[in-house]
Amino acid sequence: MDTTPENNEKSPEMTDIILDKDGDVIFLVGDGDVSVSRIRVSSKVLILSSPVFEAMFTHGFAEGHNLSATSPRVIPLPDDGVLAMTLLCQIIHHKHQDVPKALGMNHLVELTILCGKYDCVLAVQPWGMIWTTELLPRAVEEGFEKLLFITYGLDLAENFFKLTEHLVKNRLVKIEVANAIPGYEGDPELFQASLPETLEEARAERIQKVLEAFESVMIPFLDGPYTTRECQRSTVTDYFHSLSAAGLWPLSRRLQAFTIPQILKILDKVSLPRSDTCECEIWEGGCHLQKTSPDGIIPTLCAGLQAIDKATTGICLDCWRVGREAYDMQECRVKH
Ligand SMILES: [Zn+2]
Ligand SMILES: [Zn+2]
Repeated sequence: MDTTPENNEKSPEMTDIILDKDGDVIFLVGDGDVSVSRIRVSSKVLILSSPVFEAMFTHGFAEGHNLSATSPRVIPLPDDGVLAMTLLCQIIHHKHQDVPKALGMNHLVELTILCGKYDCVLAVQPWGMIWTTELLPRAVEEGFEKLLFITYGLDLAENFFKLTEHLVKNRLVKIEVANAIPGYEGDPELFQASLPETLEEARAERIQKVLEAFESVMIPFLDGPYTTRECQRSTVTDYFHSLSAAGLWPLSRRLQAFTIPQILKILDKVSLPRSDTCECEIWEGGCHLQKTSPDGIIPTLCAGLQAIDKATTGICLDCWRVGREAYDMQECRVKH
């Protein structure tokens, strides 16, 4: 058992977690105000998982001396959270049966910071994939920007790509930088603030493109040479009246409230009446309606919207880190 004086002062709240009964190290985790845990671990296993632990236990650190199972060293880690440190040690010690299958976002943030601190991201990546996959659909909700920090910090290229695509395509509320980096002012290497900013720009750009798609189908009717003709004027009127009736007016505000698939669903029910006011003669130069039937306007709009949705893809974490624009077969883990 331990021989340090701290043992005699331990609070009754203290929990003991034995991950290796022959472990030569006991982590005293937490600052005592919240909760403290004693986690018995194997220095050998920790060394294999993390260069920081390796340095701690092999050189330049007093704890490295005389490690033994009969008299395990107690190492206080007052700055580390009990839950995150317990999880990290459980994973490193292959106690997967004790690891929760779902993890809340704040705990994930804490664990991500811890993995950065101890440089052992690789060890938790499979679990990171499971936890973030579960949370991915909720990324569109306010506050879930933190998933960016988590997938970035845990270097989860696949889920980072899915998440960034999901945010740009389907998020209807602003992506807030402050939410993405909750109370974190540390190492910019771990997370780049420009990432949520870039995504918010891409999201705003998507909204702008959608608005332009709605306008562009009207351009030939409003911008061409026959704009004064009654047939074209009534088509324009029908178009905006139909959109208004479908709940899409004013466009600049209403379009922001829907994803492209949602807009397509709404447009499914919109059809423009056939204009019977067109008596334009071909020899007069015709009119735009003789080239485009009103029946074709909404399908053209829908095709344009589908193209915008399809062209929106996520961000490749590998490209983002090195500032590379294009896919590199040698380097990118996600094909894009
Ligand atoms: Zn006409
Ligand atoms: Zn790439």
